[in-house]
Amino acid sequence: MRTRRGACYCSPCQDGPRRKRRRVGVAEGPAPAGSGAGACGDMFDELPDDLVVSILADVAASARSPADLAGAMLTCKRFRELGGNKVVLARASPRCVAVRAGAWSDAAHRFLQRCADAGNLDACYLLGMIRFYCLGSRGSGAALMAAAAVGGHREALYSLAVIQFNGSGGTKDDRDLRAGAALCARAASLGHVDALRELGHCLQDGYGVRRSVLDGRRLLIQANARELAAAVAASASLLRAAAGGGGKPASRRHSCLLSDFGCHAAAKAGGEAHAANRFLVDWFASRPLAAAAATAAASATAAVSAAEDDGGAGGGGDESCGLRLCSHALCGRPETRRHEFRRCSVCGVVNYCSRACQALHWKTAHKAECTPMDRWLDNAVAPNAAAAMAAPAP
Ligand SMILES: [Zn+2]
Ligand SMILES: [Zn+2]
Repeated sequence: MRTRRGACYCSPCQDGPRRKRRRVGVAEGPAPAGSGAGACGDMFDELPDDLVVSILADVAASARSPADLAGAMLTCKRFRELGGNKVVLARASPRCVAVRAGAWSDAAHRFLQRCADAGNLDACYLLGMIRFYCLGSRGSGAALMAAAAVGGHREALYSLAVIQFNGSGGTKDDRDLRAGAALCARAASLGHVDALRELGHCLQDGYGVRRSVLDGRRLLIQANARELAAAVAASASLLRAAAGGGGKPASRRHSCLLSDFGCHAAAKAGGEAHAANRFLVDWFASRPLAAAAATAAASATAAVSAAEDDGGAGGGGDESCGLRLCSHALCGRPETRRHEFRRCSVCGVVNYCSRACQALHWKTAHKAECTPMDRWLDNAVAPNAAAAMAAPAP
């Protein structure tokens, strides 16, 4: 590779076999003067693998997209080899493993699997969500999410809580409200706002926990306060970016709400969904839910090893007909069986995977849209029918 100063880092394929690398620091003296480009190449070759892996791990930890690490690994053969090291993959940042639905491929699947095998909790969670909801591989998806949850990944804890509350991947009888509430409590203790809100509603309704209206209300106030703090922090950072030049205006980046008490606070911090939710939204936006579920089993068997036996998988075929997505725009979770999600009791048009999604969507959008259409139609039809009944026959 030619640098700005004209020196060359020779690659093994250009300069013949690379000299055996050492695991310890370079003991030799500096390269002799006048040795030219080849000396620079030798210096790169002499770097111990541990040091190169450490540098690549820092690149992965600060990467803002999967392309950042991929670009570094394309630099030379040695980076490509060492970029697959477990130390590098384990330290990959959440953004580094945030594969988009539009870029999904077998290679992306293998990358996430290698990161998960290396112990990267964000990769475990994202791949678990993809397998559970998109590929229909319920067993391996739930196992990956559980691995992330055991490691203290709050998003994984909350998603497992939603699965327990709904009995996702199984039947209605598989719902475990107490387990869902316990997972919610753990996620809330780690600072997950949606879990805090869900737990607040559970306490208010006695859903999976002993009823305590006051405690539930206290948790809802905490959730709103955290929303507000996140919104203020996001606005401040956006304003700083705009003041620094080149930043986007802070307004319109996130809508404001205070979800449960009619005041106005923040939606998500920065108005952005988690990478897993974004993946689900994009995935099902480009594929009809029934078709996606119908192809799930085939995709899962191709991508997942045969050793993974998913008793609750499926969802394809006729069972996939009539499945719906959560109506909260930033969620993306689909039903795994018919009538799994709760419906709006007023209009019956929208469906939610959780109370947290329902509360957020109500304040951000549905409050202005919800109309009891059936009741209106009944009221409109009833007087006409009564008038017809009362009218004298010709
Ligand atoms: Zn939802
Ligand atoms: Zn409604």
